[in-house]
Formats: sequence, structure tokens, C-alpha cells
Amino acid sequence: MGKITGFMEFKRQEESYLAPEARLKNYKEFVLHLSNDQAKVQGARCMDCGIPFCNNGCPVNNIIPDWNDLVYRGNYRDALDVLHSTNNFPEFTGRICPAPCESACTLGISDDPVGIKSIEHKIIDEGWAHGWVVPQPAGFKTGKKVAVVGSGPAGLAAAQQLARVGHAVTVFEKSDRIGGLLRYGIPDFKMEKSHIDRRVEQMQAEGVTFRTSVLIGKDFPANVNNWAKETIFPEDLEKEFDAVILAGGAEQPRDLPVPGRELKGVHFAMDFLPQQNKVNAGDKVKDQIKATGKHVVVIGGGDTGSDCVGTSNRQGAASVNQFELMPMPPEQENKPLVWPYWPTKLRTSSSHDEGCERDWAVATKRLEGKGGKVEKLIACRVEWKDGKMTEVPNSEFEMKADLVFLAMGFVSPVQNILDAFSVDKDARGNAKAATEGDNSYKTSVPKVFAAGDMRRGQSLVVWAIREGRQCARAVDEFLMGSSDLPR
Ligand SMILES: Cc1cc2nc3c(=O)[nH]c(=O)nc-3n(C[C@H](O)[C@H](O)[C@H](O)COP(=O)(O)OP(=O)(O)OC[C@H]3O[C@@H](n4cnc5c(N)ncnc54)[C@H](O)[C@@H]3O)c2cc1C
Ligand code: SF4
Repeated sequence: MGKITGFMEFKRQEESYLAPEARLKNYKEFVLHLSNDQAKVQGARCMDCGIPFCNNGCPVNNIIPDWNDLVYRGNYRDALDVLHSTNNFPEFTGRICPAPCESACTLGISDDPVGIKSIEHKIIDEGWAHGWVVPQPAGFKTGKKVAVVGSGPAGLAAAQQLARVGHAVTVFEKSDRIGGLLRYGIPDFKMEKSHIDRRVEQMQAEGVTFRTSVLIGKDFPANVNNWAKETIFPEDLEKEFDAVILAGGAEQPRDLPVPGRELKGVHFAMDFLPQQNKVNAGDKVKDQIKATGKHVVVIGGGDTGSDCVGTSNRQGAASVNQFELMPMPPEQENKPLVWPYWPTKLRTSSSHDEGCERDWAVATKRLEGKGGKVEKLIACRVEWKDGKMTEVPNSEFEMKADLVFLAMGFVSPVQNILDAFSVDKDARGNAKAATEGDNSYKTSVPKVFAAGDMRRGQSLVVWAIREGRQCARAVDEFLMGSSDLPR
């Protein structure tokens, strides 16, 4: 611990953002990482409390107090090694993790928690800037072949771990570029895609083969993005590889079965967001869904909805409204009651700050329009009692809507894929596999493993990285009898 009294002397300092007017002009990142002096002070706020709950609050169990101390001392080189020992991709989490670690920080009981995520962001940016992030190819090859289906954070973490212990890893991706939701979904202004490209280059140098535009499966639903040009059947994959990891995410979106759903201008968020990612990458998108000059209503109050808000505003929407079915959460959590867990509280994203009216406890009743095109949304207010929702009498209202984005989450992985592999599913339709014990990450089909959102359902990038790492260890043990990979 660098400075014993640091937590009493220094206040938390947030990373600074460009002003909304400046950031709305483009799709670039706008969060500026801490300076060396600021990071030193923030690292000094860590109390070395003895039982670092943050370490447990972080799904990859980042060894946070150690790197806080190293940053305080200005030793970024060692801080990077400590960070990489638990997290393959801190430049992703340092940008887009909601930081459950900070809800678990001991200092957070009586003061603002340590700015853990901003320190993580700083360490990895220093690492890349100094050229310390280099390929780590295995010293020997095992001769075993592993196929990874899906190139999101779970698939990438698993592939990198397995390549580093000498297995020949091929990642198959049905999209035209690598990255999963990091690439197509999460807007560039939250995370620029050059961060993924750099890691792909590193992994290629470590021996990972990437095959894009290849669907592993048989058929695929029309309402989920699929840009594959080639299909490989599961049985052929299983013949060619010694182990297969299913890391295809949870892509089946939740629909809104109300009258008018079929009108033009009503889209799933994932029809809209990837198009802008593609345009930012220099692609031509035919008939791009654009919010320019339109009245936009986003249904769903989570991350995906907030990303639709930020993208609509960048495209120059006339107005943006966001509705959430659940009641408005409290602005401040009851800390003694919830610490060290992730609290339910009002979260306002940078996209909301850029211009958006939000409303809670609102249910959409129907969508109406003329000539087959949506023009308005009819909604009502609802009350929640004992987990049951009832309509508030005479509360119906309407809202102008030229574009409606459905951002109500994802129900499950695409079922056709799991069925094509004949793996057992859990009650929510996810690939069934335990995370502990001898069968960890193993599906019901021999040599087929599952990790990330495809196993746990819709979640977070940091959880996907954790599952990819742990699954890699399980696969290595299965192939070699034992494994030195960390869990
Ligand atoms: C719009 C949006 C914003 C989000 N924002 C955040 C955020 O800010 N912070 C955060 O922590 N989390 C966020 N999330 C959640 C996070 O992105 C996911 O939890 C995470 O990406 C899951 O990782 P994964 O590797 O399991 O799957 P994914 O990232 O979904 O990747 C799965 C990949 O597998 C491919 N695939 C699927 N089936 C096949 C097949 N049969 N053959 C070949 N390829 C296949 C898919 O094309 C996809 O590229 C967001 C999610 C969305 C939708
Ligand atoms: S990965 Fe997320 S939870 Fe873990 S230390 Fe970083 S910000 Fe915190």
C-alpha cells in the first residue's frame, strides 16, 4: 500500500468526458483517461483494507489492490503484468465494464469508492502506448486442435488462453469481422474497434486462426444477424477438431407482440446498431435505418436502449424518448443494506446526458401508422405490486414515433445452433453446462464445451472473459489430463 492516509486525503476523481456538443459530432470515444499524476492520487486512495471485496466483486477477480499500489508508485510495467494475469482484455473492460468491483470497494461504505475502472483503463493504455503488449506464443505445440464458435469476448479469451498453451485454435465467426457484440452492437463511441483489431493481430501472432463469414450450424432464424457466406455442419467440425467451444452469445432478441409491431420503422436494436458500426468501419450499408430528423422511441431501459439513444442523437434525431416497463429505481442505494453487491439504482449513461427523455413504468399497448409506416406509439402507465403489473386506469397516452427501437433484452441463444449440436439446454434455453467440478463447461455432448452468454444468458463482457478463461482451462485439462492455466 503506497500511502497509508491516501483515502483520507484525496477525493475520487472521475475520468473527464468531452462535452456533449463535441462528442455528438462523431462516433469517436470521448472518455479521456487519467493523467499519470491523477492516476497516482487515485491509486493512493486504495486503503489496502485487508479483505479486498473488490477482488471478489470483479468477475475475473482482478488483483486490484496490487495494481493500485503499483500505479501509486508509477510502476506501470508490473501493474500491467498483474492486470493481464487475470484479464486478457483490460482495454475492453477498462472502457465498457459497469465496474461491479467499485460497488464492492470497502472505502465505498463511507466515501466514494476507489476509481478502479479508470485505473485499469490507464494501466492498459500505458501498456499499449509503451509497446509492452506483445504476442506470447507457446514454446511448444501439443498437436491438439480446438474450434471456437463465436468471436465475442468469451470466444476470444478462450482462444487466447488455449493458443498460449500450444493448442491449434481456430475461431469461427458468422459475421464478416471478429469481436461479437464488441464489434457489432456496442457503439464505437463507447469502444473504438481498433482495440479489437490490435488483439486480433496479437492472437494471430500467437497462432490463432480466424475464419469469418462462416456459420457453424444448419439453419438460422431470420430475425438474428447472419452475414455468413459458408456453412459448416457441427458433425464435420466435431470430426476435424479434438474439442469444440460454443461461444455464440445470446442473440435471440425479446420481441414486443403488440398490434402494429409489423409496421415499417419498428426495428430490433440489433438491426440498427450494427449498421452504424459497419458505416463507421467504411462499409456501404444499403437502406441504412437512420434516425436523422426523426422522432425516435426506444423501448427498454438497459444498456442496449442507451446505445440506441446515443446512436440516434449522433444521427441527428428530432427527439429521443426511452421507456422502461419497470418503475424508476432509487437515485441512491441503501449502502449498508446492499454492500458489497451490485445495487439497483438509477443509472444515467453518457448517452442519456446527450439528450433523451426517459420515463418508467410505461407499457406499450400498440403502434399505429399510415401506409404501413409507424407514426405513433400508444402506451399506458403501470403499477407494480408483489411482482404483478397492472394498468393505471385512464393513463393511456400517445407519442409521436417515426422510428421505434425494441431494446428489451435477449431471451436466449439461437436455439437452432444448440439443436444442431444436440446439446442439452437449461430452463432458459441456454447451453447446459456447470461451471464447477469435473464437468465444468462441458455440455451433454462429448468434447463440446460452452461459455459466455451462450451458457449463462445475456450478461456482461467481463463475465464472458471470465467464462472464456475458465472454459479454456477445462478444455486444456480434457485434452492433456491436467492444466497450468489459471481458473
Ligand atoms: C447493444 C449492446 C450493448 C452492450 N453494452 C455492454 C457494455 O457496455 N458493457 C458490458 O459489459 N456488456 C455490454 N453488453 C453485453 C456484452 O456485449 C455481452 O454480454 C458479451 O459480448 C457476451 O460475449 P460472448 O462472447 O458470450 O458473446 P457475443 O459477444 O454475443 O459474441 C458471440 C459471437 O458468436 C457469433 N456466432 C453465434 N453463433 C454462431 C455460429 N453458429 N457460427 C459462427 N458464429 C456464431 C456471433 O455472430 C457473435 O459474433 C452489451 C450488449 C449489447 C447487445
Ligand atoms: S473488469 Fe470490471 S469489475 Fe473487474 S476490475 Fe475492471 S472494471 Fe472492475
